[in-house]
Parts: sequence; C-alpha cells; structure tokens
Amino acid sequence: MPSIYKAPQEHAHLAAADRGLLDAVVHGHARLTSEQALDILENMPLAELGRWADARCRQVHGDTYRTYVIDRNINYTNVCSAKCIFCAFRRDAEDHDSYTLEYEDIYEKIAELSDIGGTQILMQGGMNPALPLDWYLGLLRGIKERFPHIHIHAFSPPEFIEFVHFFNPPGSTLEDKIRWVMVRLREAGLDSLPGGGGEIFAPAVRRKIGLGKCDAEAWLTCMYVAHTLGMFTSATMMFGHIEGLADRVHHMRLVREWQDRALLEGGARDPMDAGPGEPIATPSFGHYKAFISWPFQRENTALGRLREWGQGEDDSGDFPGDVVAQLDGSGTKDMHTEFGRRLRLAGATQYLRTQALSRLMLDNIYSIGSSWVTMGPHVGQVGLKFGANDMGSVMMEENVVSSAGTTYCLNEPVLCRLIRDAGYLPSQRDNTYDIIRTHDGIGSPDLQVTDWSEHRARKLHKQAEAEVSSATLTVSVGSRD
Ligand code: SF4
Repeated sequence: MPSIYKAPQEHAHLAAADRGLLDAVVHGHARLTSEQALDILENMPLAELGRWADARCRQVHGDTYRTYVIDRNINYTNVCSAKCIFCAFRRDAEDHDSYTLEYEDIYEKIAELSDIGGTQILMQGGMNPALPLDWYLGLLRGIKERFPHIHIHAFSPPEFIEFVHFFNPPGSTLEDKIRWVMVRLREAGLDSLPGGGGEIFAPAVRRKIGLGKCDAEAWLTCMYVAHTLGMFTSATMMFGHIEGLADRVHHMRLVREWQDRALLEGGARDPMDAGPGEPIATPSFGHYKAFISWPFQRENTALGRLREWGQGEDDSGDFPGDVVAQLDGSGTKDMHTEFGRRLRLAGATQYLRTQALSRLMLDNIYSIGSSWVTMGPHVGQVGLKFGANDMGSVMMEENVVSSAGTTYCLNEPVLCRLIRDAGYLPSQRDNTYDIIRTHDGIGSPDLQVTDWSEHRARKLHKQAEAEVSSATLTVSVGSRD
C-alpha cells in the first residue's frame, strides 16, 4: 500500500549553497525555504544552478525522453474588460479591430489541428462582457460533438473570475460561485485549465500591472476549485518587469503551497514511492501539472515604455522592485518612490536562472516548461539543461504574446531536432504529460528532413496597428499555458 503524500521538510538552518541540502532537494528529501531560494537566485553561479536543476529534472523524468505537444492556441476574442499595462492584445468592443470568433471559425481551426495530429486546443480570450454563459456552453458542446478526441484546455482563472462577475451565479462565496460556473463548463466539455494570468502574485506588483484583473487569492482559489473537480491545471509566471527577485520566489512559494493542499486533499501518493515519470496523484482530484515562466515582452505595451533601471542619472541604489519585494508578499508601493516606474528586463541568463530555480523550488510540480517562444529556440534548448523537461508546443496560432514583441515559430521537425541535439529522444506527449509517441526511428519528423533550409525558425512580430485585427491569421509559435 503506497504511503500518502508528504511534503519534504525544510531545513532553515542550512546555507543555500550547502551541498548536502541541495543533494537532498534533488532526491526529493528536502525542500528549499524562501530565503534559501532567494539566495540561490541572487548568488549561485549560473552553471552550478543549472547543474542542480538538471539533476533534479533527471531525478523526476529520467535521462531518456524530453517532450512536446501539438496543440493550437485559439484566442476567441480580444475584447477585454481588464486593462493590463503589459498587454498589447486587448481591445475595447468599439475598437475597429476588436473581434470575437464565430463558432464555425473555431471549428475550422480545430479541424486543421486535427489534420496534423494535434491533440489539444489552448483556448483563452479577453474577458468579454458581451458573451453569455450559453455562448461558452454552446461552443464547448459543439467542439466535443465534432472533435471528441481533442482535449480542451481553456479559460484561465482571470476569465473565470470575470465569468462570476458577468453571469452572477448563485453561491455565498467566490469559491461556490466559481464552482457553479466551472461544473457547467466541465459538463459541456472543458477538460483542464491553463495557468494564464498568473503574472506575479505579490499584491504591490499585481495592482500596478494588472488593472482590472483578479488578485492572487482569487487566481489560486479558482485553480483549487478545478483541482477539487478532478481537473489538471498549470501555473505560470511572467517576470522581468517591475518585480523584485523576492517576488518571483514568493510566487513560486504560493504555487507550491496550494499544490501541497491539492495533493494532500486528493490523497496523492508519496513521490518517494514513485519512479521517474510515475504518477503520484489520484485521478479523482486534480493538481498543477506544469509550471511555465517567461520574461515580459515590452513592445507595443504601456509597461514597456517605462525606462529601464540603470539608464537614468538618478538610478542609484537597489532596483526599486527589490526594495519593495518581500518573501511573504507584504511589500507596498510606498517603500520606494520609483517602484512601478522603472523596468528591469530579463535576458537569457535571468530566464535560465529563474527557470532553474523553479525546478528546485517547485519540488511538487511534475513538469517545468522551457519557454523558447520568447527566448528563441536555442535558449529554449539550453533550458532543457536548466531544469525543463518539456519544450511546450508545436502550435499553429498565437496572438497574445506576439502582440507585445517578437516570438518564434518552430515546426515539429525543428522542435524534435532541438530535443535530440540536447541529448534526448523527442517524444510527443498528450495534455496529461503522458508520452504518446517516441521518435526513436528513421520515421521521426526530424530524421526525415534532408534540407533544413526549409525548416528554419521563423520570427513572428506583430506591429501595434498591423495584423492584430486579423482573426484568420495563422502562424506557428509555442504555448503559453
Ligand atoms: S492580459 Fe488578458 S486580462 Fe489582461 S488586458 Fe490582456 S487580454 Fe485582458
């Protein structure tokens, strides 16, 4: 009889660089405190951090496979009641280039996905007050009738919180109201929830950048409801803007705590009893399957117009975000006069450091996704040596991130080659991270290619007033779930 899930113990008296501690974290016998995690993020040499994260990843996933998924990102509307200052995608309903896709448009996109062997749609939109609950129910039923084999990964927590505002469901608590809506959407065909809208959980940062978007408590509660209904979800973090390093650690800590809750209440198996890749959770209770983080893309956004820290004569001392950020999330904007007025963008090094830390900190999350979409294919490939086990998606469409900067487009052969060249067998997974196809023979997508000039990574970059209005635009970029 397998024992029940127990979170690994913290050892606060040990230094972050203690090899015994890190070795225990790698083997799942210990977990990092927030203080140790921050010390690692700030001070550990990049290569060493990568080695520890890679060791932990190998402990969880073994040495043989690294995965990707084939799905399609469908942004069903760009009309949104929120005004996030990092967003170049949203429109007001009366804007000339606002849109809401017709059902038939969405079915057509899914048919194209199905034709190339895709298994999942990632469907998210703006929060559009004009769409009633019946519109969503009809859409989900229509998709399931036509494409029963396609997994519907849709509606991130901020959308659910706005559903509660728009539909006014019965219930005395936010949790009750979310559950009322979610049960109906699940019965209509919703399979799992993407982790969009996570951004940074710390209130001081969230209030500055996510105007009109739900707070962290509501976001996490929404995911908890999904878990109680047996659904898998993912969690995300968008960093490299006004936040401090401690905010990133606080964000990961909250995800870890709520994952503990889901695994404990769900009667999950002790991970110590499971081998690499073996499930620890029960199918009747969901949990976070994956964590994906990526750096903020600044172009075409109000947030991106802030001056970068260090470029002004009066930029002395610590970065304002670091002054405000507290490991318990208690920082307030009045702790630094320049907080929220200066940016600190994240490049490849900060990206790899943050991703590697997420692998070590989130000891109870199975999959860490590599975000090549914004960082480019080769940084994404290196990410497989910095704690990531999954390369995300060969996907056919994306509109949100590409509205705010350059993103990259990779097809299946390129993605497979990147994984193989990193030293692993490329394997297509499904939405629950089970491997459905391993490319170990001459029929592999990458091994059939003789002319790679046809398969170079393409850059996608939408100008502010350009193609964003086109609901029919079809491009290939990776997943942001
Ligand atoms: S990020 Fe999402 S919620 Fe925020 S304005 Fe853009 S579409 Fe709306």
